[in-house]
Amino acid sequence: MKSFRLYDAHTHLQDERFGGCQAELLAACTREGVASMVVNGSCEEDWPQVLALAGSTTVPTALRILPSFGYHPWYLHERTGDWLKNLSRMLDAVPSAVGEIGLDRWKPDLPYDGQEEVFIAQLRLAAERNLPVSIHCLQAWGRMLEILKSEPRPACGFLLHSYGGPKEMVKPFAELGAYFSLPGYYAHERKARQRETFKHVPAERLLIETDAPDQSLPEERNRFPLTDCGTGKALNHPANLREVYEFAAEIRGVSLELLMSEIEVNFLRLFGQP
Ligand SMILES: [Zn+2]
Repeated sequence: MKSFRLYDAHTHLQDERFGGCQAELLAACTREGVASMVVNGSCEEDWPQVLALAGSTTVPTALRILPSFGYHPWYLHERTGDWLKNLSRMLDAVPSAVGEIGLDRWKPDLPYDGQEEVFIAQLRLAAERNLPVSIHCLQAWGRMLEILKSEPRPACGFLLHSYGGPKEMVKPFAELGAYFSLPGYYAHERKARQRETFKHVPAERLLIETDAPDQSLPEERNRFPLTDCGTGKALNHPANLREVYEFAAEIRGVSLELLMSEIEVNFLRLFGQP
């Protein structure tokens, strides 16, 4: 049997929509050859869950979970007066990664006020500690580039997860140290622009993500169908990672073997060796 060593650059495995079934999800991931995944916290409330998951005995020994802590722009309204102190404390305990943080001008009714201030504070924290940072950006690419140019950045680099910005901005971001992760969601027919963009990402800056439980593949490629038992809505199973690799190999016109070895090198360069 072929052996796979796959790396998921962006998940939210702690998400409560998984209904506490993380041990089963991880067992399936291990069978698929997932070697490591980054688990992103989004707010003060879920940071301890991310930490607990990373240290949990339910994680198979063959799989490394990389905990990441940050305030996602969607949850900024929940932040306490001590949020930055609390984040520093998490990173003191586990100096692994910062994220998910970012800027979002797309989500309806989400105030933009305060987003830049919180983003910059977290970026500075990542830069001071030289920790990889995972960035969410929707309809704020111009400001994102300006901020990343003018602020200190982590020397190890940063990830623009589910990169959906213009093709022309890949180069300027890459010059600042960006990596770009491709989600399976871009296999949907209507995502032609994003697929085109990902053909132009330099091989040494490409990463792959599931963004589980979100950003599902098209139905015909979804090998691990999963539903939220509470709402009945479809969820993305993290074991779909291999299918996202296959999709990436197709659009870039390379073999799965070559892609796997490139992604492994990139992932370990950005997120560190175990
Ligand atoms: Zn995310």
